[in-house]
Amino acid sequence: MASLLQIDLGPGRKRRVVGIDLGTTNSLVAYIDEHDQPGVIGADGDGIVPSVIAVLGQGDVVVGRRAKEHLFTDTEKTVYSVKRLMGKSYNDVERDTHLLSYRLAPRREGLVRVEIAGTEYTPIELSAMILRDLKARAEEHFGETVTAAVITVPAYFNDAQRQATKDAGKLAGLDVLRILNEPTAAALAYGLDQERKGTVAVYDLGGGTFDISILRLEGGVYQVLATGGDTYLGGDDIDQAIMTRLRSELAEQHGVAEVTPQELQQIRDAAERAKQALSTAEEIAMEFTLADHAVTFHRAFRRDELEEIAGPIIERTMEPCRRALRDAGLAAAGIDAVVLVGGSTRMPLVKQRVGEIFEREPFDSLNPDEVVALGAAIQADVLSGNRRDTLLLDVVPLSLGIETVGGMMSVLIPRNTTIPTQVRDHYTTFVDNQTGININVYQGEREFVRDNRQLAAFTLGPLPPLPAGMPKIEVAFTIDADGILRVKAKDMRTGTEQEIDVRPSYGLTEDEVERMLRESIERAQDDINERMVVEARTEAETLIQAATKTVEKHADLVEAGERERIEEIIGRMREAMHGGDHRLIREITEELDHVTEPLAQRVMNDSVQKGIGQKKIEEV
Ligand code: ADP
Ligand code: MG
Repeated sequence: MASLLQIDLGPGRKRRVVGIDLGTTNSLVAYIDEHDQPGVIGADGDGIVPSVIAVLGQGDVVVGRRAKEHLFTDTEKTVYSVKRLMGKSYNDVERDTHLLSYRLAPRREGLVRVEIAGTEYTPIELSAMILRDLKARAEEHFGETVTAAVITVPAYFNDAQRQATKDAGKLAGLDVLRILNEPTAAALAYGLDQERKGTVAVYDLGGGTFDISILRLEGGVYQVLATGGDTYLGGDDIDQAIMTRLRSELAEQHGVAEVTPQELQQIRDAAERAKQALSTAEEIAMEFTLADHAVTFHRAFRRDELEEIAGPIIERTMEPCRRALRDAGLAAAGIDAVVLVGGSTRMPLVKQRVGEIFEREPFDSLNPDEVVALGAAIQADVLSGNRRDTLLLDVVPLSLGIETVGGMMSVLIPRNTTIPTQVRDHYTTFVDNQTGININVYQGEREFVRDNRQLAAFTLGPLPPLPAGMPKIEVAFTIDADGILRVKAKDMRTGTEQEIDVRPSYGLTEDEVERMLRESIERAQDDINERMVVEARTEAETLIQAATKTVEKHADLVEAGERERIEEIIGRMREAMHGGDHRLIREITEELDHVTEPLAQRVMNDSVQKGIGQKKIEEV
């Protein structure tokens, strides 16, 4: 007989789970210590790791600040902004290739790959290199192994992008306990520090992504009311705009039309440094030398000039803010606090515009570079069982549903539903003797699936052949806490079931999300009309089928002239169904229903009589 003895590790002994902000530009690890105090790895901003990877040879990988130095010397072997490539195909990112100084393999199918010295790397592998480095830093800090983490992603990351992030963690030897939205993490960090109650807007403008979230904090519960943003908007775009200005000046003043990749990096570096300095200074002197052209460039740079260049980019963050307010059903006055996150929110113009749109002074007492990692650390602490006072609820950014008859979108999970969630709905067949049912999964706000985005498709079968309308198919959508969707279809009669994890081969670009949302608003009226036509047609078709079948099957019960009358109406109905007037279709449907009623009555009486003897239905 063996008996077990429980080992008491004593108070304060915890499983080590860290929070990781895996940023487009910079990454950071944070933790909660034995005394429930938050901290980041590396003091004095030293822990902030540029998300840059230099792959100098097989097994010779450098990450962070040291990798950034290789941008100049090994430009084509040095990868930055890899987060922009996560979960995307080459086609998705092709338009940006001119902005990158490293090479993308021009393969059309599957996930995009980065080509370095003849070897192709997926963004997942490259992100894993950053995570491995962060893990090593954390292990050095704690003097023990770190095996589990919470990793943050922009709220707008779709399923493929979240999955890719999770895979990168796995590849780096980390058990990814949760994928957390960045603005939600920021709200968590503020919730802890301030014990605030109320509605908060989190405005996060980093290097590559912009997120706006509206959250309600109450009794330790953080509920996301709305999210929005742009995965292609950030400080990088401001740098690019400055570079464009500098390059045209270089061409005008020094005749430098083409620059080498190394020189391009130098210009990028000068542009970013100038931008950052102008967050505190009103004017700076800019100077850099392009080695290959032997040209030294001088120029004074004033903040108002920067603001004129950056203004239109910052302006692009305003509409998502307005939309998030609308989605949350709030006016600016309904927001109690505005939180600033991300390095770019250090720009005075950003603070000013955010203050104007939300009609209040933004809240920036926490270090905007650390907020997200700290929030992730708090969530990590919750998941490692050390904290029970916080529960986190997130939302789906776009509606999810399946295709039904006539190409219509049947929404199972509406946009902004909190997750995790599970929804079941029931469907049936429209055609007789269907032995398989196609389940087509879509994402988007439009009434017709052709305007939305297909995420997955599978077939439920084999099913026993049955008349239309007889099978009962249950479709269940489950979204886990990471925002990853699982679709299950089940034939209730036979128990046959089929399920898939939705992992699209590439992501939605921000433009697509934008377009889908915009069109859903603009085209709502059209969609409703079209939906009514499709519904009217479907109903008409069902009735025609039923009437035709009855007339054939019960020819003995059809009275003189009745068949002709029914056929005439069906003829008119077919004509109306070609047109787009749903009222006319409905009118004729009612007429057909009315005309076929006596026959239906006779058929019913007939079958009842056959079943129970000679009595008429009225006498039963
Ligand atoms: P990400 O979340 O995309 O990794 P960060 O939040 O680290 O990005 O922000 C990085 C961006 O912030 C870069 O574009 C950087 O140039 C910008 N940034 C950092 N410090 C400042 C500053 N003082 N003024 C203006 N922009 C800044
Ligand atoms: Mg960030």
